[in-house]
Amino acid sequence: MEERNNSVGASPKSRTFTYVWIILVALGLITGGLALLSSYASDRPQPALLPDIARAIEAGQVESLVVRGDMLIAEKNNGVRLGARKEANVSAFESLEVLGVPQQTLRTLSIEVEPTESRTWVYFGTALTFLPLLLIGFFIFIAIRTMRRNPGGMMMPGGFQNRIGQSNARVIGGAAAKEEDTALERPKVTFADVAGSEQAKLELWEVVEFLKEAEKFIKLGARVPKGVLMAGPPGTGKTLMAKAVAGEAGVPFIHISGSQFVEMFVGVGASRVRDLFKKAKEHSPAVVFIDEIDAVGRRRGVGLGGGNDEREQTLNQILVEMDGFDTDTNVIVVAATNRPDILDPALTRPGRFDRKVLIDLPDVEAREAILQVHSRGKPLAEDANLADLAKLTPGFAGADLENLVNEAAILAARRGLSQIGMPEFQDSMERIVAGPERKGKLLSEQERQVVAYHEAGHAVVMHHTPDSDPVHKVSIISRGMALGYTMPLPEYQRLLRTREAFENELMGLLGGRAAEELIFQRVTTGAGNDLERATRLARAMVTRFGFSDKLGLRVYGEEQGNPFLGAMGESRNYSEERAQAIDQEIQEILDRAYTQAKALLTEQRQKLEKLAQALLEEETINRPQFEVMMA
Ligand code: ADP
Ligand code: MG
Ligand code: ZN
Repeated sequence: MEERNNSVGASPKSRTFTYVWIILVALGLITGGLALLSSYASDRPQPALLPDIARAIEAGQVESLVVRGDMLIAEKNNGVRLGARKEANVSAFESLEVLGVPQQTLRTLSIEVEPTESRTWVYFGTALTFLPLLLIGFFIFIAIRTMRRNPGGMMMPGGFQNRIGQSNARVIGGAAAKEEDTALERPKVTFADVAGSEQAKLELWEVVEFLKEAEKFIKLGARVPKGVLMAGPPGTGKTLMAKAVAGEAGVPFIHISGSQFVEMFVGVGASRVRDLFKKAKEHSPAVVFIDEIDAVGRRRGVGLGGGNDEREQTLNQILVEMDGFDTDTNVIVVAATNRPDILDPALTRPGRFDRKVLIDLPDVEAREAILQVHSRGKPLAEDANLADLAKLTPGFAGADLENLVNEAAILAARRGLSQIGMPEFQDSMERIVAGPERKGKLLSEQERQVVAYHEAGHAVVMHHTPDSDPVHKVSIISRGMALGYTMPLPEYQRLLRTREAFENELMGLLGGRAAEELIFQRVTTGAGNDLERATRLARAMVTRFGFSDKLGLRVYGEEQGNPFLGAMGESRNYSEERAQAIDQEIQEILDRAYTQAKALLTEQRQKLEKLAQALLEEETINRPQFEVMMA
């Protein structure tokens, strides 16, 4: 396809120049080689020994002698030349005399002493001196040229990687799809394949309309949308949505990821952007999709170590390209990020990515819809209730749900079933949440008891605190890192949470540890993860939500993105004194929750014992059984 020669600096002139160089070097090599060869081939005498030559001289067969360094070459009357090596420090005369050649005979010979720097040596030396120079010059030239042509171009093993610097954008559909060996194919995904996200679809519909019939908008003098920024957590279907926009409009979809822009050398990014947009214009109308735009579009001038030239250049190039769209350029740039907060304000200015579409984690209804989309065409058993499954999977993104359905199908196949039933969905869900079940005997009897009481403690506390989600399942089967687990069933999506709800959650989290202490008067490491979560929750209550009377209505600390790790850091914007107060308050909140949990379990000790015993026998207790036991 025609993406080959469109990068800067590869003009025909420099091309010719290269060829001249190559020819020059080749010529040099050939002449040098030929000279060497000929000097050897023509001059090479028959190898012989000194006595042979001496004998030939005595026999009067030799016309002339040539002394070349340590070589003594005798030319016989019949044209044959004999060459023999003599001792280095002894003259040819002496050597021959010693061998018994009479002085007079020697005198009649024409003897030519050639300088040691013989012709061969001269050729050889010249070649040896200039060849490396020539080669070095050639390589330096090539390197410079490659760099100029593909800034950042690297010489890769296996030849010059001449496609570095050209965008790696993949065109799906359009004539360029030849590369993937697919005929004029456009994304087949449409909005029907994206479940939930109704709001986002509504906002994107306008873009689709524009791609379909731009004239309508242009006639009315409307400024057409150029850029859409999609923000949302990973796996929520941003890529899918962008594809669906192209699919709905029936236009090619050109895709590149932000991280592909940022490579080893300065300048690659910018040239890739140019290439990307060039390609898009060729295939217009088209959708350009830039994934992970935060990789290049991070706010400039912040973070450690100052700016990053490469990123800035790339970002600038994107902005330049977008600003340079003519009013009739029918290309829509869709960018995706899960960190919209760290984007450079220049990106979100009007005329650039001025439309923001938020894609959030799906709620219950959306989860059910997504599950339905992905179960399409899969044989579901009667008991497979997707609505229940949706309830059980808060926090799952679209990608997780897709994975869940797939895992369930695999499980059903492995179990030799012809349909996917609820047990398969349940097991896959637990597997995804808590890791795979661990088979075999992991725990001693003593440890099993501790785990049983620990989990029973969580469950009993959760059951007896108002506002808490009902317990869906308690189990002492080890999964992943957890030795047992208690799974709540969120009844409905809570958008607003009260302080009491947080306090109850803390009690539930600490219930496991409280039960251990109550029953065994001894504690174990089993509560490590519970404590971590409880501490985080308590800290958020104090520093984020203003739930502490002592510390008041204020947010403590400022969240910061770390440009290198991509992780969150926190900068402290409060005094040391406040820090102490925060620590103390967190401690008090946790202590209070623990005391309350322990008090509750002391009161409900019978139920705790009953549940723990049931767990030891059956390993897993489901909700109906649990409700009966707690009644
Ligand atoms: P993102 O780009 O936001 O990280 P993707 O678009 O790559 O997420 O989503 C990964 C996969 O998850 C998709 O290919 C799709 O199968 C599934 N998925 C995510 N969200 C949805 C949704 N709303 N409806 C249907 N499938 C979804
Ligand atoms: Mg994606
Ligand atoms: Zn626990």
